Amino acid sequence: MGRVFVEHLSGKAYCCKYCRTHLAKVEELLSKQFHSKNGPAWLFGQVINVVPGPKEDRLMTTGMHVVSDISCTKCCALLGWKYEDAHEESQKYKVGRFILERAHVVEASPSAQPPPPPGRNDSSVPPLSYFDGHSSDMDDHYF
Ligand SMILES: [Zn+2]
Repeated sequence: MGRVFVEHLSGKAYCCKYCRTHLAKVEELLSKQFHSKNGPAWLFGQVINVVPGPKEDRLMTTGMHVVSDISCTKCCALLGWKYEDAHEESQKYKVGRFILERAHVVEASPSAQPPPPPGRNDSSVPPLSYFDGHSSDMDDHYF
């Protein structure tokens, strides 16, 4: 057990800042007009290599939403959240889409920064202290 399966994207992609796991293609970026408690947040259509947490109701500036926090599948860092449902009809466009907080992702192009070869891992310690600062009152903003 315990072997983490990580997908890789071809071309330019956004990666986990902490372990460089690929998270989303640059083409999946839909909007940079979102905000979280920690600063800018981006809306993506599709995100990979994340693990959703339990669904919960969360009141945001645009109304009540059902969201689940998403964490990096490899290092478990909290990266953002997924919109599971929206109470307001005007906000339904976000359902099934993902927020990645800008502070937790980096842009990587495969030519400039090749991923480490497979089979040589498990030597790094995930930043567990990150969870100490976990807060649930993240927020979004107008599209
Ligand atoms: Zn990671």
